[in-house]
Amino acid sequence: MTKIPLVDDSIPEELKCTTCLLPMQYQTKKDGKFLWQCFKCGKQYLVSENVDETIEERWSPPR
Ligand SMILES: [Zn+2]
Repeated sequence: MTKIPLVDDSIPEELKCTTCLLPMQYQTKKDGKFLWQCFKCGKQYLVSENVDETIEERWSPPR
């Protein structure tokens, strides 16, 4: 029997930057949240593991 980790379920297939409308890249898991970052403008989304769909927006300087 295959057991699917719940964590995988909570990762959105795709997030789009609201500024550039480009697909964001999944970076890492941080403090129980999944960190996505736009490679163009450096905008970051923190997506909570919970299914409450809480998404935080952050900015970090583009590299
Ligand atoms: Zn962007």
